[in-house]
Amino acid sequence: MIMLKIQEDILKEFPLGTVSDVKFEAAKIVIYVKDKELFARGFEIGKQLAQKFKKRFEIRLDPKFLPDEHIIVERIKNTLPREVGLRNIYVEKHLSTVVLEVYHPEKLDKEVINYLRTLTFCNIRVKRAPLKSSKTIDVIREYLHRQSEYRSKFLHEVGKRILSGIYDKPRRDWVRISVLGAGREVGRSAFLLQTPESNIIIDFGVGVSNVGSDAYPVLNLPEFDIDQIDAVVISHAHLDHIGFLPFLFKIGWRGPIYLTEPTRDLGALILLDYIKVAMRQLKQAPFSAKEVKEFLKHTITLDYGEVTDITPDIKITFQNAGHILGSAMIHMNIANKHNILYTGDLKVFPGRLLDKPITKFPRLETLIIESTYGGKEDYHPPRQDVEKEFINDVKSTLKEGGKVLIPVLAVGRAQEILLELSEAILNKEIPEVPIYIEGILWETSMIHTAYPEFLSKNLQKEIIEGKNPFEQEFIMRASPKERKNIMESEEPAIIVATSGMMNGGPIVDYFKYGAENEKNLLAFVSYQAKGTLGRRILDGEKEFILDKERVQVKLKYKKYDGFSGHADRRELVHFVGRLSPRPRQTIIVHGEPPKPFELASKLKKTFNIETYIPKIGDAIRLD
Ligand SMILES: [Zn+2]
Repeated sequence: MIMLKIQEDILKEFPLGTVSDVKFEAAKIVIYVKDKELFARGFEIGKQLAQKFKKRFEIRLDPKFLPDEHIIVERIKNTLPREVGLRNIYVEKHLSTVVLEVYHPEKLDKEVINYLRTLTFCNIRVKRAPLKSSKTIDVIREYLHRQSEYRSKFLHEVGKRILSGIYDKPRRDWVRISVLGAGREVGRSAFLLQTPESNIIIDFGVGVSNVGSDAYPVLNLPEFDIDQIDAVVISHAHLDHIGFLPFLFKIGWRGPIYLTEPTRDLGALILLDYIKVAMRQLKQAPFSAKEVKEFLKHTITLDYGEVTDITPDIKITFQNAGHILGSAMIHMNIANKHNILYTGDLKVFPGRLLDKPITKFPRLETLIIESTYGGKEDYHPPRQDVEKEFINDVKSTLKEGGKVLIPVLAVGRAQEILLELSEAILNKEIPEVPIYIEGILWETSMIHTAYPEFLSKNLQKEIIEGKNPFEQEFIMRASPKERKNIMESEEPAIIVATSGMMNGGPIVDYFKYGAENEKNLLAFVSYQAKGTLGRRILDGEKEFILDKERVQVKLKYKKYDGFSGHADRRELVHFVGRLSPRPRQTIIVHGEPPKPFELASKLKKTFNIETYIPKIGDAIRLD
């Protein structure tokens, strides 16, 4: 076995013959010891090594010395306190690790975990089970468990690349960002970051409302070479940020994807849904379920605030972006010289679901910020006012016997709106009518309950106490067959359905069956991009052909701006003003002109910051 210098140096720290292997798991170094004594002192040894080498360490017992799997399982079952609520045990023997899926990880203290470790000779990892079973989470966790041998080889290779040290001759001596998508448009966010040692992609989305080749990131730039891409970092699980990712696996790329755990799970779900929606429209998605599996196999998840090397000269840290569950701003430190903050989609004053994003960073020179609502006119009314207006409109629609249709993205607004409507029903502000949702919304809502750490403090508390905010008697799961009946019945109801911009998904059916009833209300609570059905309705078109049927728009429709998952102009300026340290330059992306230009002039005037508004294909040197 050829060893890297760092592996040799680590071996020297141990008595001869006590270590059987030094492996990498991405940026973490794992030492397999033969000696149970050394294993018992694992935490302490790991800490000492971390101080010396400035890396993360984990000490495991050589799998050869482990008890049989059934003994490990039995010892855990006999020892684990009942109130922890065991759901699943995954024994990964070749990694000397046991993964416990439990309902109440907060009831499992360190002492018990340590005790389990001495009983099983395995390191223990704990995962939270969703309050109600989620097929997505079950399938993903089971699949990753089955792939754990492949993943350990893969992670070792990733680690070798990260820890091999800086080359004698760097690839280049500059830092540059190229815009592959989302330059002067909303959709297909994708950027290429080139540093002296590495090439990484930040986000890789589809243009949900674009057609033809404009729907995908632009890859035919001279600087883009798929074989030279070291890693991909994804900000959040919306199609315009993650939707083209499986395509990389289709063309043979096999590198690591960094994201948060909820982004991984929600991402897999919406990617599979994207294939389904395309099929229903007799179109073909640019990838298949096979590549979604490849994506899962190559993910590396990080928590907010966790600093990690992802290449020899890039360290990243995710921070809450306030946009959707698991959404992250990405802070990138390049060779300790240059620091970039990419906001992804940003909400500065989120509603019930999430907490406010932070604005303090250790260092910051370049800010890459979205501008969906950065235009001069983009001031959203205060949240309470919109909520009041919305609830009032819902109330009067229901009173007249109409139905309320709310198009939502499967992740984010959907949960926010469900919480809001539930609260209004429970407070008797609106009558108790059924709120219909379909499969994917149920799934995404349940996924929220598996990751309370990523939610607002209030919701976190509720979920940890075992209350499921998305499970109410009046929230009903509808099947596609029921759509027509629901819309044609006399009973008032609320329908919350995808897709958010009505370019596909169940909402189009509900609209089709209910468009000609003037009692109904179509309530837009999120952004409607140019060219989508939602935008065309908002722009006043009165007649559509849907599934070969002529549909006339007679229902009421209304836009409620304050619900957006995106910061408005005031929030964006507030965010930049609060940033500490203040960035030297700002790159403005993810906005339809003139919005990015209008935001730029405001930022320049207010903070005297250099601004760039790149087009697709542009490259900006940062250092
Ligand atoms: Zn988004």
